[in-house]
Amino acid sequence: MIWEDLMSISVDHAKMVDDVSLRSLLDNITEPAVIAAMDGEILNYNRQFYSKVPKVITKDNIQQIFCLTSTVYDTENILEVATIATKRTGLFPVKLKLELDSCGVQKSVPGYISALRYKESGLPAAMLVQLDEHLLKITSRLKEMQKAELNHARKARIASLKATTDELTGLKNRRFLNTFLEYQWHSTKRSSEDAVIVLFDIDHFKKINDVYGHDSGDMALRVFASCLEGEARAADIVGRWGGEEFMVILSNCTEDEAALFLSRAMKKLRDSVVKTSGETLRMTASAGYCSLSTALSPEDAIAKADKALYKAKSNGRDQFIKYT
Ligand code: GH3
Ligand code: MG
Ligand code: MG
Repeated sequence: MIWEDLMSISVDHAKMVDDVSLRSLLDNITEPAVIAAMDGEILNYNRQFYSKVPKVITKDNIQQIFCLTSTVYDTENILEVATIATKRTGLFPVKLKLELDSCGVQKSVPGYISALRYKESGLPAAMLVQLDEHLLKITSRLKEMQKAELNHARKARIASLKATTDELTGLKNRRFLNTFLEYQWHSTKRSSEDAVIVLFDIDHFKKINDVYGHDSGDMALRVFASCLEGEARAADIVGRWGGEEFMVILSNCTEDEAALFLSRAMKKLRDSVVKTSGETLRMTASAGYCSLSTALSPEDAIAKADKALYKAKSNGRDQFIKYT
């Protein structure tokens, strides 16, 4: 920067600027920097600063472009911090709140305040405020990375939710049921608690599709799902096993307690109506159940519950049967 590049400065300050070697100072500062008198009047700034803060004008007060966000100094007033800086040596790290673009968007920018002194007397002549562009770049890069990380975590959460959720009913899907059953199997083996696995199958569901249409069939599946969810406890797992078949894993549950759950769920199902265009339909279901303590493996528990379900179907449907 050459002397002619410096903005017009007041005569009063001219001597001081000369005293503190303002020109060579600005020449040597590669980061955005502004120099102001101790009363806040802006004396000069470099090009880097102007490109960052286009609204800067000499003779304006520095408080019009900056305030502090840091609470370290117990004040937001930059002049007060500059006064503190005159009492010591070195750079004072600060966080500056300023508008970085013409849209008036305020940003918090790291920077330094230091005092410039008269050569002879050593008395404070002006304040130098530098923006730490390096730190600024790192900070904004860090923020970008944090944002990307959050985004990534959110996407991963959605993906994992999708991988375990049945799209039509919002219940757990077969993959999740298999995984959970495996987990439940091992935790039951290690404790005195039992768990019960229930398989449901809607009765004559094909007829519902044939008579009312596939969309009504879908609606019936959603109604069925909400009946089960409404009756299950928070710790139970309700899932769609496939087609019109559903599974409920009742944790910490005896076969007698399972029978009570099944009575409630079956009643709720009988009382529920599915509203299709202009018509309402009702449905029933059959169920088979089996406690994990009576099974040899998770697969065996499913097979046994399925056998009981088959029995419930052949016994006339709309009923539940325990595997024996
Ligand atoms: P049962 O009482 O013996 O169980 O008779 P059912 O008619 O319910 O049994 P079946 O296995 O003959 O028919 C099941 C039907 O479920 C056939 C299939 O088209 C239908 N289905 C399977 N998945 C869906 C689905 O996602 N939406 C709809 N709307 N229908 C489905
Ligand atoms: Mg079926
Ligand atoms: Mg069926």
